[in-house]
Amino acid sequence: MNLNTVIIGAGISGLSTANFLSKKITNFLIIESSDKVGGIIDSFESEGYTCENGPNTVLNNNMGVQELIDDLNLSEEIIYPDEQGVKNRYVLLNGKPAKIPLTFYDFFSTSLLSFFSKVRILLEVFIPRHKENTNVKSFISRRFGSEFHDKLIVPFLTGIYADDTKFMSAKHTLKNIWELEQKYGSVIIGMIKMKRKSKPKIFTLLGGLSKLTDILKQKFDDKILFNTSISKIEKTSDGFNLIINKEEKISCKNIISTIPTYSLSSLIPDNKLKHLLAKKDYIPIDVFHFGYDKKSLKNKIDGFGLLTKPQDNKSFLGILYSSNIFKHVSGETNFLFTILVGGKRQRNLCKKNPKEIENIILKEINSLLKINSKPNYIKHYRWKRGIPTYDLSISDLIIEIVRFEDENPNFNIHGNFHKGVSVSDCILNSKNLVENKF
Ligand SMILES: Cc1cc2nc3c(=O)[nH]c(=O)nc-3n(C[C@H](O)[C@H](O)[C@H](O)COP(=O)(O)OP(=O)(O)OC[C@H]3O[C@@H](n4cnc5c(N)ncnc54)[C@H](O)[C@@H]3O)c2cc1C
Repeated sequence: MNLNTVIIGAGISGLSTANFLSKKITNFLIIESSDKVGGIIDSFESEGYTCENGPNTVLNNNMGVQELIDDLNLSEEIIYPDEQGVKNRYVLLNGKPAKIPLTFYDFFSTSLLSFFSKVRILLEVFIPRHKENTNVKSFISRRFGSEFHDKLIVPFLTGIYADDTKFMSAKHTLKNIWELEQKYGSVIIGMIKMKRKSKPKIFTLLGGLSKLTDILKQKFDDKILFNTSISKIEKTSDGFNLIINKEEKISCKNIISTIPTYSLSSLIPDNKLKHLLAKKDYIPIDVFHFGYDKKSLKNKIDGFGLLTKPQDNKSFLGILYSSNIFKHVSGETNFLFTILVGGKRQRNLCKKNPKEIENIILKEINSLLKINSKPNYIKHYRWKRGIPTYDLSISDLIIEIVRFEDENPNFNIHGNFHKGVSVSDCILNSKNLVENKF
């Protein structure tokens, strides 16, 4: 088989690349090692609940996402949350849920931060910009004080990366904030000077986010090879040979890899990069879905959800109040919570028997949210390697990827481990890759 391009992996990075590439060429194929599309995007419906084992929402914050929605004619099918219903987000203060301040007035009146901390935050405008990259803990503590870091930034970033701020690269995980600091010398001044754009919205689809990858599957049905493993990639004079399923050979001019580092490391024909890819760490996450009869919830469950920090001593990283975010996920009579457990903070929990964790977190959640009843629905999913870490060594990996791509201009390395972890980052990176290289 002689192809122009082979895309490896049929997650959102691979499928959205196929979408943009299909506007330029038709002679391509997608190779997927499993029997399904979507990768980490993994929705399921059962007993009247719609659950997400992977991403719960996608942020429509870039041209790539909008173009994909338009290409697939999804504008009418997209479901946005009720803005008021999800406005409030909570962290814990002395063991009780406390609203994260959102407005200027809330910020000054909140008891989450001490008076000293509020003054310290305002002093940020006088702190010189960083000359080199550092970790998130040191970046935020230096600019805004350690109380702000410990009480608000830690829970917030845990909800996205499940990582430890001591190890996370500020430049790569706080990209916008880092850029404001570098450009204006102060994040606060940068935010004031920045032109106000309308706030991007999060969305899902009826049936869950897998609907998005299922529609892409239908679009490229004849171009996806499922259950196909690549045992070797060899360079040739005009491209590459891929040995699949141990014996068959596929020749192509271009490769776009969208697979995780631990899969790519065994295939990449470059020793230095192979070593760095193999070293990359992924953070485990357990996801629990608890459904309750609404009538049994005596207290109103308000807002988007609740996030924890290490000092709270809870066994979960955060709870999404999924039915507040998207009403349809549990129907009229039930209420769905999605709970994230583990992360860098509690890696060991993700090795325990799920039933054991379930009992622990049920107790904690019932006590926090004052729930006296039992859930009528429980499901669990374990991601042994969930989210790639973005620690300070990411710069070395990026340098090696750029070097490798310069030496092998037809081998493109895409995926969620070096240019942003969110679904919207993956889609934007697909669009940029196709526009720049094809
Ligand atoms: C629990 C959790 C919650 C999240 N929540 C959010 C959220 O709310 N919003 C958000 O924007 N993001 C969220 N994310 C992040 C986001 O979902 C992922 O970063 C994104 O979906 C990754 O897509 P991808 O296509 O790059 O990789 P993947 O989804 O990992 O896809 C890679 C594909 O390649 C295949 N593959 C692997 N090895 C091979 C091989 N050798 N040959 C062929 N195929 C191979 C895999 O089977 C898979 O289909 C979350 C992640 C997790 C784990």
